[in-house]
Parts: sequence; C-alpha cells; structure tokens
Amino acid sequence: MRKPIVAGNWKMNKTAEQARSLVAEMLPGLDKVEAVERVICPPFTSLAPIAAMLAGSGVGLGAQNLHWEEKGAYTGEVAPSMVKELCAYVILGHSERRAYFGETDETVNKKVHAAFAVGLTPIVCVGETLAENEAGETQAVVSRQIKEGLKGLSKEQASTLVVAYEPIWAIGTGKAASSADANKVHKEYIRPVLAEMYGQEVADAIRIQYGGSVNAANAAEFFGMSDIDGALVGGASLKAPDFIKIVEAAVK
Ligand code: PEP
Repeated sequence: MRKPIVAGNWKMNKTAEQARSLVAEMLPGLDKVEAVERVICPPFTSLAPIAAMLAGSGVGLGAQNLHWEEKGAYTGEVAPSMVKELCAYVILGHSERRAYFGETDETVNKKVHAAFAVGLTPIVCVGETLAENEAGETQAVVSRQIKEGLKGLSKEQASTLVVAYEPIWAIGTGKAASSADANKVHKEYIRPVLAEMYGQEVADAIRIQYGGSVNAANAAEFFGMSDIDGALVGGASLKAPDFIKIVEAAVK
C-alpha cells in the first residue's frame, strides 16, 4: 500500500516572517495526521527558519528547485547539498520552471540524479498544456517527460521518488481535472511507463500525486481514486485551514 503524500508548493509567496506565522498556524493540525506524509515547500529564504520550527514534528520540508552542480560559479543557484542541509524533499521540473526558466526534460533529469546523490526525495512534475490536451497528446507528453526526466535511476531510487501529474491548464486556474481523467493518466499512462522502465513492483511503489486546483472541497474525490496517491497543492497550501483539510482528506 502506498502511503499518501500531500505537499504544499508555496511558490514565490511569503517572507520569512510571514512563513513563520503560517507554519505556526498549520503545524498543530498537520502534525496530527500521521497516516499521510506531509510536506511544505516554502521559498529558499524561509527554509532555515521553517526547518527549525518543523524539527521534531512529523511534517517534512522541501525546496522548490536546486542546481545539479555541487558548487561553483553559478550565481543565484543553490546546490543539492545546501538543500539537503535543511530539507528532505525537492520539487523538480514544475511547469512554471519549464515555461519561464528554460527547464527541459534533460535538465530535470540532471536535477533528479543530483537530488538522489545527496539523499533528497524528488517530487518530479509532469503534465500537458491545454493545447496538447485538446490535441489528444496527453499520453505522449507525459510518457516523454517520465522517460526522459527519470532515466538512468536505480530501481531503489525510482521506488522512493514521487511523481506529480499536473496538467498545466489546471494549475492556478480553479479548473481542476476530473478525478476520473486524472486517475486515468496516473493508471494508464504514467504507471505503465514506470513499469516499463523499472518493473511492475517498483512502479506499484511509486506515489503519483495529482496537482492542479486541488482545494478543501475537491480533495477527497481525488484521493478516493485507485492511483491518486496524494496531491501537490499550490494556492490552497497558503491557507492553513484549507491545507489541513486537504491533508486530512488523504487519510485512507
Ligand atoms: C502547483 O503549483 O503545483 C499547483 C498545483 O497550483 P494550484 O494548486 O494553485 O493549482
């Protein structure tokens, strides 16, 4: 049985002071829900203060990006070991990074390997645009992103990673995919590709989150589906009561 995992992607929101207040508000509620793996991913500037607040709690911390090199002349970048000092998780290949910062399947793959090299759990995002969806290309797009983005991992590494299926047209739009459509992508498109790459047993162990306008009202419907193993939550993860409700809804 796959343990559900719900992660909050705060994107570029909250100063460190605001982040501390938000964590203080949500931590008691989140801490109780042990049946779900709970992760929050604030901006880099808040990681150190939030790591201190989460110490000893059951809530994990994640970054939203890293560079694949360990050190050097990469102004503005953050190395895997720097993230690992504070975090256990890292979101990689988010569609906003692919769209605005030139990330490709190839750079995502380098980052995935770099994350595993330091012992971070990557949450790897895949998903199609609206045009691709309307052209019937969803399966081809997510298959390519999985094959290219996750190539070259050991079975052991692959079994611990988290995939987030995030149709781009559903992110931040309030227009979520239907739970049936999302489950179909997880079950019929993503998991079989993972099985082809790493074997059925590994594919069955990999958690596949849905992301895209998940909120306190629709979360339970997603989590009721056979192959939706949690959620990557953007906007609703910035509201403590909503994020707690989403995490609670993931209890099987
Ligand atoms: C996201 O950014 O990963 C996301 C899913 O955002 P939202 O929940 O706001 O659609």
